[in-house]
Amino acid sequence: MNRRDLLIGAGYSLGMLGLASCSAIPKATINKQSRYSHYKPLLSSMDRVTHSVVGLRPFRPQGYRLESEQLENKTIVHNYGHGGGGITLSWGTSIIAAQFASKPMSRDIAVLGSGVMGLTTALLLAQQGFKVTIYAKDFPPNTTSNIAAALWLPSSYFDRKVATSQFLTRDKPIIRGSFSRFLTYVNRPRYGVYWNNYHLLLPEERNSIRTLPGGNDLYPELTTSTEDNLFGYPYQSYMKALIIDPMLYLPAILEDAQLAGTKLKYSQFKSVDDVLSLKESVIVNCTGLGASALFSDNSMYPIQGQLTHLLPQPEINYSYVVPTPEGYLYMFPRKGSIVIGGTAIKRAYDTKPNDQLTLNMVRGHADLAKKLIS
Ligand SMILES: Cc1cc2nc3c(=O)[nH]c(=O)nc-3n(C[C@H](O)[C@H](O)[C@H](O)COP(=O)(O)OP(=O)(O)OC[C@H]3O[C@@H](n4cnc5c(N)ncnc54)[C@H](O)[C@@H]3O)c2cc1C
Repeated sequence: MNRRDLLIGAGYSLGMLGLASCSAIPKATINKQSRYSHYKPLLSSMDRVTHSVVGLRPFRPQGYRLESEQLENKTIVHNYGHGGGGITLSWGTSIIAAQFASKPMSRDIAVLGSGVMGLTTALLLAQQGFKVTIYAKDFPPNTTSNIAAALWLPSSYFDRKVATSQFLTRDKPIIRGSFSRFLTYVNRPRYGVYWNNYHLLLPEERNSIRTLPGGNDLYPELTTSTEDNLFGYPYQSYMKALIIDPMLYLPAILEDAQLAGTKLKYSQFKSVDDVLSLKESVIVNCTGLGASALFSDNSMYPIQGQLTHLLPQPEINYSYVVPTPEGYLYMFPRKGSIVIGGTAIKRAYDTKPNDQLTLNMVRGHADLAKKLIS
């Protein structure tokens, strides 16, 4: 992996949340009476690996596209390009996409795509009484949205050097709206949305905590500390954060959309003309990275990420992100597995897991786990 290709510092990146620098994991100095001594260590070994997955984050340097346009006699609403933050942002941008789509007052609406954006947009519109059909070439569990880690964190979905102030102004209420809606799914087992003890760990101290995306009130129990941190790191930002299990969440939202009347149709669109030949006069484009070819959006490119799933450990209810020379090591526990990551490689299109990367990740997390028990 080429280190220059790693995405560090894009948009609301982990860097902005306190992980700007990337240096070797420091030697731990752990107080035996650590406040984390009740944390159980991650069992990270190759014999606990169930599978690895690779997904392509649909990244637009200027930020997601959320707007309505007229093409011939059709209204096309675009809701795509959410990079590494699509699960997080989904309700927020889909609420606005649904508002655009409802304006022409056409009873029938087509939604293109059945990832998190298509599903949330379809559900919102169907609940408002519109006759919605989702057209897609892949449905859950076969979308990029199913691969997501998926921590609720507005992160890595635009380039700060490129995004406009108008984008940022509009983005804040979108983040907040999305968070509010996710709160309604917490602790309802069918949806797989749970609070977790989340640790951002840094190899060097910081003077102050920054204002986090959407406002610090979205991050319960947010604190920073410079001693007695997880794994002995010199600096830590701790908060309660939501973890969403897409393998539960997406089928549940799909089912809700169907119960509200949404129909599903397998379709693969090769061109805009294919799209314009749909019978509906209002079409919401939620095709993620697919929008690049379909609507000639040359600004968008993939940021490839590999994740590995380990056998579940119900005793683990904490998560962490640690910067390393290669990028990051992060761990998010779910009911059905422990997800470890992760990579972020710009413009890489391959979706085949790399065995060496899996081994490196497993070893990296095992080294961290040793710091809990040493
Ligand atoms: C490794 C990894 C980790 C991630 N972690 C997080 C995280 O922790 N938190 C977070 O918020 N986000 C995370 N993300 C980002 C998130 O997964 C994406 O932003 C999100 O899934 C995008 O959703 P979408 O619905 O726009 O696209 P997709 O899920 O890709 O759905 C696109 C849909 O459009 C359909 N489609 C595309 N082209 C066509 C076509 N031509 N014809 C017909 N159908 C078409 C597809 O079949 C699919 O149904 C992560 C992503 C990856 C890869």
